[in-house]
Amino acid sequence: MKSKIWLSPPHMGGTEDKFVREAFETNWIAPLGPNVNGFENDIAEYLGHGTHAAVLISGTAAIHLGLILLGVGDGDEVMCQSMTFSASANAIRYVNAVPVFVDSETDTWNMCPILLEEAINSRLAAGKKPKAILPVHLYGMPAKIEEIVAIGTKYGIPVIEDAAESLGSTVNGRSCGTFGKFGVLSFNGNKIITTSGGGALVSQDVEMVNKARFLASQARDEAPHYQHSQVGYNYRLSNLCAGVGRGQMEVLPLRLEARRANFDFYVAHLGTLPGITFLHEPQGYLSNRWLTTMMVNPEIAGCNRETLRLAFEKENIESRPVWKPMHRQPVFESFPAYTNGVSDKLFQDGLCLPSGSSLSKIDLERICNVVFEVMGK
Ligand SMILES: *Cc1c(COP(=O)(O)O)cnc(C)c1O
Repeated sequence: MKSKIWLSPPHMGGTEDKFVREAFETNWIAPLGPNVNGFENDIAEYLGHGTHAAVLISGTAAIHLGLILLGVGDGDEVMCQSMTFSASANAIRYVNAVPVFVDSETDTWNMCPILLEEAINSRLAAGKKPKAILPVHLYGMPAKIEEIVAIGTKYGIPVIEDAAESLGSTVNGRSCGTFGKFGVLSFNGNKIITTSGGGALVSQDVEMVNKARFLASQARDEAPHYQHSQVGYNYRLSNLCAGVGRGQMEVLPLRLEARRANFDFYVAHLGTLPGITFLHEPQGYLSNRWLTTMMVNPEIAGCNRETLRLAFEKENIESRPVWKPMHRQPVFESFPAYTNGVSDKLFQDGLCLPSGSSLSKIDLERICNVVFEVMGK
């Protein structure tokens, strides 16, 4: 059996264990400590634009706290991108709010601003003002975030950007996650950098970020005894995991470069095959290319994405269909959805290719050869 090629495995840079060892040597094994502060500073500095960061146990926890801080609660509606990983929508249910799903446009595969505005007007006509807008920068490709934030401003609805997949991506030089009221990052094991599990809530509003830290550490009021006037959460990232994060931040630019090089390799080798297309960046957009996605038009390619996925599997190569839209998920299909067929089509024909930053040229050639073989090239 040939060695396994994973979709997006962790990739340590070499200095992570130095920070973790420091934590051991100084006995900072307790949840908070210097690595937490250091990691938060690294993230804030990297994102720029006066951003502050609260590091948490997961990206999902960050979305949850963002919604709480915006006052989203029982029965409130949140406009949520349908084409996403379930975590975006799950957090909306944690606060007992109602996800209203919005379909994608074809330039970035993310929330369609035109459909979003139509959907908002439709909710307003029904007498219900949405409490938040939750777009996602899927697979690292920035959403039309300037347009979406402008719509949010026009209707007085705050935006939480799910940037879990897009650390390092920019629009006109500005980092994803810094456009909305809140941005959400993830350091899950499969993301561009990892703390083995973790996330961050970021914002330019330092008071809000402080409140996130407060809520994430059990909402302890200032008192010598334990005093609570709000429901709290145990969502803070540990000082050990934050040590891994500090090491990973040192290599983030290299990881970005490697993922973008994977994309370029795939385009150069597979991009001219009939029926195979890739998602290119609109003018001014930079994707971290967290995952390279490939569309397979079965009528032209003579095979479909599932044939390719199974052929990869046979060769011990992990690939995956693109996210199944939330409005098609059994757990969410009863919620309102504004659709245009784009996400259905992407799900039908889209395949995520192995995209780890540690892929070798030999790995990439092995992957491309599977496609050549299936397509008889
Ligand atoms: C990974 C991911 C999340 C959740 O992040 P976790 O850290 O795994 O909780 C949320 N949204 C999207 C789009 C993601 O890919």
